Order: sequence, then structure tokens, then C-alpha cells
Amino acid sequence: MKTFSRKLQLSTAIALSSTLLLTACPSDNGNIKSSGDKISKKNKALLVIDVQKCFTKGGSLAVPKGDEVVPYINKLIDSKKYGKVVLSQDWHPQNNVSFASNHKGKKVYEVIKVDGFDQVLWPDHCVQNTDGAKFHADLKADKADYVVQKGTLKDYDSYSAFEDNNGKHSTPLNAYLKKQNIKEVDIVGLALDYCVKYTALDAIKNGYKVNVYVDGTRAVNVNATDGQKAIDEMKKAGVNVIE
Ligand SMILES: [Zn+2]
Repeated sequence: MKTFSRKLQLSTAIALSSTLLLTACPSDNGNIKSSGDKISKKNKALLVIDVQKCFTKGGSLAVPKGDEVVPYINKLIDSKKYGKVVLSQDWHPQNNVSFASNHKGKKVYEVIKVDGFDQVLWPDHCVQNTDGAKFHADLKADKADYVVQKGTLKDYDSYSAFEDNNGKHSTPLNAYLKKQNIKEVDIVGLALDYCVKYTALDAIKNGYKVNVYVDGTRAVNVNATDGQKAIDEMKKAGVNVIE
């Protein structure tokens, strides 16, 4: 299997995957492990990454069992542990560079060069204002304080909720969090080894204390160890990975 880089998009990996990492949901008593932080609630945000129809059961690029994160995440949303709850939303124009359909003669999963970077070509997904781009129907999205959309430009793709894969365009997320005086973020969502990982790494770079709750994520695992590698990489970067 080809080694995937950051420049590759989540979607291909999702479509290619056949395995699943770390599947535990919260136990029946609803206990969610503590990150052990001392930062006050108002300075802490929950970041929920890309829990959308296209990436969950029945979606065009569904992460296997990705829908299972929804009850866990809903408990976090309801936990009143956070000053702000933020959702990220993959939100592509129909002419996005990452779609194979926009490259004549190219097939899904082919890799092309875009601006000097590898770009995998994916099936259409999370197209702006379509049903597949909506949040999972059971996610308590109405309780979010803020939604950040990513991958919104024609010529760029984005794993991270902070910036595109080429690092050329930032989303409004960092400015929002700074304005709200957020110091610490808890990250969950889809997928552990792509968008969650890159969002966590960018959060570290942007100066936040970062916790990733593995039980609130699912890995793509294009290669069987990708989820574990993502965990190791995040830990090495200073992310508090809670397993
Ligand atoms: Zn996408």
C-alpha cells in the first residue's frame, strides 16, 4: 500500500480502509476519563472533527463504524465541561481539486501533483449545501457554539481544522479560539489518523494544551498500524492522548 502523506485527503483513505482501530464507546454508566487538566471550564473547548453524513454509516466515504463515535461525543457535548463547543465541517465546492470528477481522464485514488504537492483524487464528498455535508443526524450539532468549515476553496484540500494541507490558508478557527480565550482543547471525531491528528498537531503549534480522546474517534487504518502511528506522533508532539 502506498504510504500516505498529509497531502492526501481523508476520503481516499476512508474508502480504502477495511479495518478499524480502538472501538470502545463510553461505558453504560457514561463515565468519560478525565484529562486531568487544571484549566478552568471557560478556557476549554471541545473540538468535534467532521462527524458528517459522508464520513459515517451510509455516507459516500464512510469511516467503518464511524457513526459509533456519536453517542460518546454527545455525552461530551452534554457534560458542561466546556466553555465552547466547536464543530468542524468538511465543506468543498463541487469543483474542488481533490475530486477525481474534476480531472478529465483521472480515476478515483490516483495521485496527481497540485502546487508541487501530492493530491489523491477522491470521490465527490461533503459538497457544500448537499445532504452528505450535513452533520450526522444524531450528533447534537445544535448545541455547538461555533462551526468551522474547511476545504472550502477550489484549489486546496484540508485535513486540519486550522489550515489547508499546503499551509497557505488558515481557517477562522484559531482566531475564534484566541478571541474566546481558550487555552485547552479536547479533540474527538473522524478520523483519528487524518483530520483528528492534523488538527491536534496544529493545535499544539498554535499554543493550546491538547487532549485527544481516542474513544471518541475512529481510525481509517489504510495500513493496519496507522492509528497507532498517529497516536505515537501526537504524543511525541506533546498531545495528551487519552486511551
Ligand atoms: Zn474532504
